This record gives sequence, structure tokens and C-alpha cells, in this order.
Amino acid sequence: MEKVKRNVLLNPGPATTTDTVKYAQIVPDICPREKEFGELMLKMKDEFVKIVHGDLDKYASVMFCGSGTVNIDACISSLVPAGKKILIVNNGAYSARGAEVCEYYHMDHINLKFSIEDVPDLAVIEKALKDNPDVAVVYACHHETGTGILNPVREIGALAHKYNAIFVVDTTSTYAMIPIDIEKDNIDFLMASAQKGLMSMTGLSFVVGNKKILKESKDYPTRSYYCNLYTQYSFLEEKGEMHFTPPVQTVYATQQAIKEYWEEGEEGKWARHQRIWAAIMKGLKNLGFEDLIPVEKQSKLVVSVRYPNDPNWNFTKVHDYCFEKGFTIYPGKVSDIPTFRLCSLGAIDAPDVDDFFVTLEEGLRHNNIKIPIQY
Ligand SMILES: *Cc1c(COP(=O)(O)O)cnc(C)c1O
Repeated sequence: MEKVKRNVLLNPGPATTTDTVKYAQIVPDICPREKEFGELMLKMKDEFVKIVHGDLDKYASVMFCGSGTVNIDACISSLVPAGKKILIVNNGAYSARGAEVCEYYHMDHINLKFSIEDVPDLAVIEKALKDNPDVAVVYACHHETGTGILNPVREIGALAHKYNAIFVVDTTSTYAMIPIDIEKDNIDFLMASAQKGLMSMTGLSFVVGNKKILKESKDYPTRSYYCNLYTQYSFLEEKGEMHFTPPVQTVYATQQAIKEYWEEGEEGKWARHQRIWAAIMKGLKNLGFEDLIPVEKQSKLVVSVRYPNDPNWNFTKVHDYCFEKGFTIYPGKVSDIPTFRLCSLGAIDAPDVDDFFVTLEEGLRHNNIKIPIQY
């Protein structure tokens, strides 16, 4: 196996992958309609459920060829019954995307906006549910990747269920990183993409959801042809293959990534992500950088770092310096506060972060940016 140049990606996914995952894509050409490939997909669809401790009698996964947003599109367009509403718990760029999907499909929805620098207020969510008995779906994002805020999904899910609504969660940036138990966390549908927590390649996204509700959704209004959850689910169940062409090579990479996931283990992997996060926090502190979100509200997967107050600060120049040396950093997504992000995703560990900070310090000095960082 030839070595591929190793880049350390500190952006919020796609993440750094192992060489074994990269090479798993190199397979003999195969038509995805062959039984051999179908069997691979049928096995994989159950693995996605097992990763979130789902009971296979109650939960199933539905796969799509596309980036993570395809799941948001599919869940929202497929799971709202006629004459009912969806409530979007909006405290960041990714939950806001849920509201945008509602707008695009002209769906009746409540866009319940909260500060993007804080977790949502449960009392406000409860009041909205009390005031709107026609809400059939509550939608939230587990980890707002734009800021690094971790939302209390178990509590929001309990509220949804108390008011007879189902709970749909975007877990794209927590799945296979922060342990999730779909049933205990009061989640009916969750979503993820192969290239983030699973450390595979881009192009394969999937929803894990309650089978009973999936079957009921057969009779709900259809709003999208390509992204309908029920049609995609029933096709694979009945025909043993995906409705439309799957991302073949990504599926092979994902098979290998799942194998490596089980080898590392749920707890071991989450411990590693937290170790990487701790190394990021330590490195930032050493240079005098300030982060935005209070530690107790952080996912420990994304750190939003305030731009220095220094006339020589230039994100692009610092980014380019680090990029040259194999480290990728990423701009922020907090509307009016200029930040950049450092993330603890991917097949990296604390020593990679220590190496990155050596390079970052060089990059800062190279650009005459004062150390310690000025605010
Ligand atoms: C990455 C991500 C997505 C998907 O984004 P794509 O650009 O479509 O891959 C969705 N939700 C969250 C929370 C994410 O972090």
C-alpha cells in the first residue's frame, strides 16, 4: 500500500481518514445492482442502526446518495402529515437550514429562534408546543457545528413526546462521536453522513428512524421525488438495493470505516475526540487565544475562536501558511462575531494538534501577529 500524504483536517468535516479507509475504495468495478453489492448495503443499513443502539425490530436506516443536507431535506419533506406543522428549534446555522427547507417546500412551520451563542430555553419550547397543538414534528440540531454548541436533545425530545409530536434530530456532527442511544435520547429520526463521525468518504448519507412512523409516512403528503424517506426505505426493503445509484466507492470505504469504528469502540473513540479537544484548548490558551462558547455548553468537537484584535491579523494568510504545512483550519459561522473554528473530528490524535500549534505559532510570527494574542 502506497502512502498518501497525510493532511490534518481541523475543519468541521469531511475529516481526516485512515489510509485503510482511503484504499478500501480501490475495488474491482462492480454494478451496484449486483446481488453482491446489495448484500453489502443490507448489512450496512443495520450497522447504522446499531451504532446508535437501536433495536432492529423498531428502527431502520434509510440511505441516500448525497451530502448531509439531503437528510434534512428528506426528513422534513417526508415526515409532516397533512394539516400539521413542524416546529424548528433554531439556535444556529444548521437548525436554520431546517427552517429554510420548510420555506422551500412552502410548509406550515414555526421557526422558533434562539440566540446562536446559547442552548435553547426548554420553557419556551414547551410554551410553543402548548400553544400549537397541531405541531406533529419537533426538529432540532444536536450539535450546532457553526458554533460548537451541544443542544439538550434528550430533554427536547421528552417535551416533543409529551405533546404527542415526533422528534427529528440532525446528528450529522455527533453521530459516531458522542455516544447516542436513539431510544433513551427520545429521538424518532436522526441523521448522519459517512464523512464526519464515521471518518469515511463523502457522498453517503443516512437517516435512522422509527419503522412504525416510517410506514405511516407512506400516506403523508409527498413534497420531493428524490428525497422521499418512505419510497427510499421501502425500495431497499423490498428489492434489496437502493432506489437510485449509490456512491459505490464511498460504500466500500464506509464498510471499512465501520469496521474501524467497532475496533476503536464507542467509548474509546469519544475519549479520543475529547483528548483532541483538550489539546486544542491547551494550545489556544498557550498562545492567548479566546474561545467564544462557555466550556459547559461546548460539544468538545468544535471550538469557535475569536479573531485577535491585531492590525496584522489576517485569517487567510494564517490559513494558507498552515495549509501549506498540511493543517486545515476553517472560518467561523457566528454571524456578527468574527471567529475561526478548530475541530476534533477525524482520524487524528492529540500529538497532531500539538504539531499544528507549532505551525500556527510560526504562522503568527511570520505574519507579525503579536503573541500572546491581543484582544
Ligand atoms: C455537516 C453538517 C451537515 C451537512 O452538511 P453538507 O454540507 O450537506 O454535508 C448537516 N448538519 C450538520 C449539523 C452538519 O455539521
